Amino acid sequence: MSDCIFCKIVAGEIPSKKIYEDDEFLAFHDITPQAPVHFLLIPKKHIRNIMELEPGDIDLAGRLLNKAQELAKEQGCTEKGARFVINCKSHGGQTVEHLHIHILGGRFLSWPPG
Ligand code: AMP
Ligand code: ZN
Repeated sequence: MSDCIFCKIVAGEIPSKKIYEDDEFLAFHDITPQAPVHFLLIPKKHIRNIMELEPGDIDLAGRLLNKAQELAKEQGCTEKGARFVINCKSHGGQTVEHLHIHILGGRFLSWPPG
């Protein structure tokens, strides 16, 4: 998607602080971190949101969760945990329409959201 900022990050047209990259996924620090650990994990494939995942994306979605777990551990969240967040559309607070998981850790995060 030519007007998608995360696709532009994947293409290297917008800089990012990468923490992981392979053929399928990219992880980078959130530009406005809300916790000591706050990074985003995205599929390189442009999928607008979790509701637009298709049956053919099931394996990708599984690998996405597996990678989120692996990177959260690498970022120091093994012992105390982290929050894995997928915002979706307006009521979910999604501002970038390219599927992404926020991984937040390094401090206690309250619940429920406001
Ligand atoms: P969401 O509100 O769930 O769609 O989250 C989008 C996230 O992307 C926000 O936390 C933003 O701070 C983050 N973000 C937006 N632009 C960039 C960027 N260029 N590099 C890194 N993170 C970004
Ligand atoms: Zn995109």
